[in-house]
Amino acid sequence: MSSNRNYSPLTIKLLFGSAGGRCSMCKTKIVLNATENDGVAQIGEIAHIIGSSEYGPRGDGNFPEDKLDDYENLILLCPSCHKKIDKQPNSYSPSGLHEIKSNHEKWVDEQLEVSNLEISSKELDRIIKNISSGDYESSFSFEEFEHIDVSDKIDKNDFSNQVKRFLDIGLMKTYEVKSFVTEMDKLDKNFINRLKSFFKVKYLELKEKYDDNDEIFLELWNYIKKDANSFIEEAAALSVLCYMFELCEVFEK
Ligand SMILES: [Zn+2]
Repeated sequence: MSSNRNYSPLTIKLLFGSAGGRCSMCKTKIVLNATENDGVAQIGEIAHIIGSSEYGPRGDGNFPEDKLDDYENLILLCPSCHKKIDKQPNSYSPSGLHEIKSNHEKWVDEQLEVSNLEISSKELDRIIKNISSGDYESSFSFEEFEHIDVSDKIDKNDFSNQVKRFLDIGLMKTYEVKSFVTEMDKLDKNFINRLKSFFKVKYLELKEKYDDNDEIFLELWNYIKKDANSFIEEAAALSVLCYMFELCEVFEK
């Protein structure tokens, strides 16, 4: 607790993203949606697997100090589970915590995958209304590339394995997103272009700010899932993002 913590913003985003914004032990949501009276809040705590202090819980004087704040040595918990592992360090060894973390991340992926099956036009409508309500009149001309090789594009962007995994999950459902937006475009001629413009504006904004495509991907996903209340809505947001990844000039191609 006394040592200087030096997590990079990217590490924090990867940690929250991979944990699905939930405690890795009890699965409580630690990113709380805005209410009528309060904004979004987060109550999660980032715990060190090898303790940050040699003499504290799970401390290890031989562990390289510059690796303490790396993604690999961190686990996202709610305050009460964090207390639990620190008060009973013999029951929660570093190897046990690594296992808890990786099982939790697998669980998150599975929830998204299973939720994919339940995405309906209701979720897509809500997600897309949220993001296309702004004034994103098409100021761009878009290159259409129907025959883009998505796996090439994924390689070019140098994503981490976790983000690649999210892409794999989201890309499974882009066909449904495509039929939804195609229907919408029949009713409102500029619909698809507005959607593309939204993504392009946001993407370019984020690209100015961040060097790392993982960070841009997670920021974009967070932005469009911000009011999500369930894995189904999170999965719907992911598939919309992946459809745009497939369809247009969002990310390097
Ligand atoms: Zn917990």
